[in-house]
Order: sequence, then C-alpha cells, then structure tokens
Amino acid sequence: MILNPIDPSKAIIHRERILTALGGGMPPPVTVGLDISNRCGHRCVWCLYERYKREKPLLMPEALAHKAVREMAEAGVLAVCFSGGGEPGMNPALGRVILACRQAGLSASLNTNGERLRELGEQSLAALSYVRVSLDAGSAETHRRLHRPAEDCFERILDDVAWACAARRTTVGIGFLAHPLNYREFAPLAQRAGRLGCAYLQVRPVKGMPLDGPMKAELFAEIEQVRRKLPVVVYESFTKMEDTIAGRRNFERCVMNRLVSNIGPDGCVYACCELRGVAPIGDIGRSSFKDIWFSEEHRRALEGLDLGKCPACKYAKGNEIIERVFVRDELHRDFL
Ligand code: SF4
Repeated sequence: MILNPIDPSKAIIHRERILTALGGGMPPPVTVGLDISNRCGHRCVWCLYERYKREKPLLMPEALAHKAVREMAEAGVLAVCFSGGGEPGMNPALGRVILACRQAGLSASLNTNGERLRELGEQSLAALSYVRVSLDAGSAETHRRLHRPAEDCFERILDDVAWACAARRTTVGIGFLAHPLNYREFAPLAQRAGRLGCAYLQVRPVKGMPLDGPMKAELFAEIEQVRRKLPVVVYESFTKMEDTIAGRRNFERCVMNRLVSNIGPDGCVYACCELRGVAPIGDIGRSSFKDIWFSEEHRRALEGLDLGKCPACKYAKGNEIIERVFVRDELHRDFL
C-alpha cells in the first residue's frame, strides 16, 4: 500500500487543532509558508503570482527570517514550507534559515525550480523533510518553453537532483505540471527520475491550461505504464485539483485557514498562501507572529472572509474532508 503525502485527507491527523478551530478557537497553525524570496530566475507560463512578485520583488532580510522562525516555534507551528512567492533559492540565506528551523524544533521542506539546489549544501539538505523540484518537462527544449529561464538549465538541474538523491539525506521528489506542451514527456522524465533515485513524481493539472480528453487519456496511460515498470512512485492529483480548478466548493466553512498561514518577504502575514498579497492580517516587522496569529483582529478577519471571493484553492479538498469527517461524521468515527 502506498501512503500519499500529498493526499489532502492527511489534515485529519491534526484532530485537536481541527476541533479547536471548529469550536471557533484559534489553534496554532500546523504549517506556515515562509516566502523568503519573491524573485525568480524563471518566468513559467502558468505562474500564479506574477503580479504579486512584480509589485513586491523582495528578498526577506535574513534577520527577519530568523525572527519569523523563532516566533513560529514559540507559537506552536510544526512545519515551515519554503515554496514561494518566487524561488526560495534566490535568497542566499535559505540554507541558514532551514538550519535555524531545525534548531528551533520546526520541520522544513523546500519546493524549488532547482536552479540553486546544490548551493544549499549537504547540511541544509539533510535538515529538510523533503525537497520537491518542479521540472515540468522531459527535455531541455520543453523546459525552456514552459519555464522560460534566463538561460538553459534543464540538464544542470538534473545534475543537482542527482547530487541530492546521491546524498541520501532527504526525500527528493519531482513536480510535473501537465500542460499541452509537455504531457508526452512525463514518461521520459519518470525514466530519468527513476535512474537518479528520486522517491516520487507528483503530477498535477495547470490552472487555466487544461489537457483535452485525448491528451489526458494518453497521460494517464503513461502514468500507469510508469507505475508498472519503474521504481518511482507517482502521485497524481488530477481529481483533487480539477474539482478545485473548476471552483467546486463542497464545504461550508474554511477550517484550513486556521491550520496554515503564509508570511511574505516583507513580513506581512496572510490567512493562507492562496491569499498572498491580499489583505495581510499583520506584519512580523511590527509584532510577533504569535501576537498576530492569536489576535482578536485575526479571528475577526477570518470570520469576515467571503469564501465566494477566494481563488480556486488548494485547500478546498482539505476543508471538504474535515467537514465530512468531523461535522457530518461520514466515517462513523466510533466504529473501528
Ligand atoms: S483561499 Fe479561502 S478557502 Fe482557501 S484556505 Fe484561503 S481562506 Fe480558505
């Protein structure tokens, strides 16, 4: 049996925090995205944060990042995700901040375009629970067309992925956003990932750039082949993401925004990563993360949120599952 770490139902592991949130309280967030860079050397055709990055093309000052780490640990956060708004590796302090997370008792993960992966060094790599490299292509040509890097880097990134896998210090996965230009390159990429020793590939659809029916059927046939023949696990998130992308909201209230948060490179704190750049709930340059998170203003801001205005949200499935398990008791929880 394969356990899928990308499965949104894992939110229910955090039962106590969920029950606090459902009761109207504010639990400490489980995961916080720390955007230590809004800069990126790539211009991916699907980038969702282009405007936010353009408006705030910042790197988080290292002292502010360390303050954030200390205060997140004090507030009871469990894990810090380095994934955006731009490329975390653009901030030269990334490796040191990852180590600071570990020293503060926080787990850390990195989602990266891979351009500066090796600059992390083995010590920081070992401090990560996982690293996921968004490659989204099986050839340099397609990588160039979709990621639009300043200069060709596909082979160099794969060299660095090989280095990270060989170091055997963390779980290394590859991200693949399936697009009409790349869907036939999933299998070649999976072959290379398998040879390098990557633990998994994650395949997801792209918001606003869907595969048509025959393309999707071809991709799914490739996924099945890869699953049968290669020593690499494939996590496929189409069903989860397609509901989300289509704007299907199968929940009444958002609990996930009491389990996650996001801090921008200027120190602004947001209700969730989907609302980056929109209505910050505080600024860690002025107050502590703990004071902001547990403030009355934050609680009121969440209660006043109009979910109808939220973007297609990656936490939608988590919210749906929480409601079905904890509110509607569809699992009949007391009958094991
Ligand atoms: S975008 Fe809206 S629904 Fe999604 S987690 Fe944020 S507040 Fe909740």
